[in-house]
Amino acid sequence: MNNIPVCEPLLSGNELQYVLDAVSTGWISSSGTYVHKFENSFASYCDSKYGVSVCNGTVALHLALIAIGIKKGDEVIIPSFTMVASAFAVCYLGAIPVFVDVKKDTWNIDPSKISEKITHKTKAIMVVSIFGLPCEMNKIYEIAKKYNLKILEDAAESHGSEYKGKKTGSLADITAFSFFANKNLTTGEGGMVVTNDKKLYNNCLYYRNMCFSLDGNRNYIHQDIGYNYRLSNVLAAIGLAQVEKADFYRKKRISQGRLYEKKLQKVKGIVFQAKNKESKSVYWMNGIVIDAKVYGHTRDELIHYLSSKGVDTRLFFVGMHRQPSLLKYRGTNDNTFPVTNWLSENGLYLPSGSGLGSKKINYICQQIIDFQKK
Ligand SMILES: *Cc1c(COP(=O)(O)O)cnc(C)c1O
Repeated sequence: MNNIPVCEPLLSGNELQYVLDAVSTGWISSSGTYVHKFENSFASYCDSKYGVSVCNGTVALHLALIAIGIKKGDEVIIPSFTMVASAFAVCYLGAIPVFVDVKKDTWNIDPSKISEKITHKTKAIMVVSIFGLPCEMNKIYEIAKKYNLKILEDAAESHGSEYKGKKTGSLADITAFSFFANKNLTTGEGGMVVTNDKKLYNNCLYYRNMCFSLDGNRNYIHQDIGYNYRLSNVLAAIGLAQVEKADFYRKKRISQGRLYEKKLQKVKGIVFQAKNKESKSVYWMNGIVIDAKVYGHTRDELIHYLSSKGVDTRLFFVGMHRQPSLLKYRGTNDNTFPVTNWLSENGLYLPSGSGLGSKKINYICQQIIDFQKK
């Protein structure tokens, strides 16, 4: 078996039909009907009232931060182990990302380390449901209530996940999704902000579209500085087809993630993300951490070996406190993020994606088992 990519999108429903419709009718800007259909269907999939589609997940985060009123000089708590967009979105506003290490078992933000980072400037907590696993929201709610903070969820990796029976998208004040090609649901490039709050919804609509007034009066008077973050109808057409099959794609990812866990559970020195009982993960990427002393080879040696067997992998994210672009936000030193450092130095993604299939997973797992014996 040769060349298994780390992730391929699966577009197995009405995607092409809807795209053809959008193109052949000429509705290719953001004015077409698929935009609203996609927003409504995805928001309702999230058990949420309102969805505002945008052109990628990074600007979804930016828009969500604007909507909850983050301003220059405000501090926003974020996990140190996340994709860099979580931090950049805060920086775009001149606000300050404040990093908190993650838990060694769930790899999600450690609620017990948040309070010590809160100051009079702190305005919000951004939780990231990393690899599709929702955070311990009850603890986050307590802290947010105590310090009067907004909660924003970066759910770019977490479409359809649940916490205590509630869908992601209805867990925070406002939630940002990405539909990049490797996410569980995809439009190639795209994103959405989801909320149950009418005011936040209106803020998103307003700033997404250049701060045109929302009453539909196109008088070309702009009271505020806005953005063009609109999503094309062509991509929304793909999105609608993806949402129609969202549960199918979700189940695929979950069953594949569980197959990896089952096949590799007896291999010593391989650590999986622990699942907290309240959360239902949607297994975005199948990440593993290598304990080199126990496994017998380092992470980099395994990556090299898998590559020689045609298996593509990726490194884990590097911590926010170690990003050259973000060093000024790091605080005292590197040592306060031991779990993030451990993850980024020893973690890798195995091939994931809704269309991967069990045959390839079995092959990949066998290579990992064989390599240990060498
Ligand atoms: C993918 C991702 C984003 C950014 O989404 P884009 O659509 O690529 O801009 C943000 N946060 C996390 C956690 C992600 O995984």
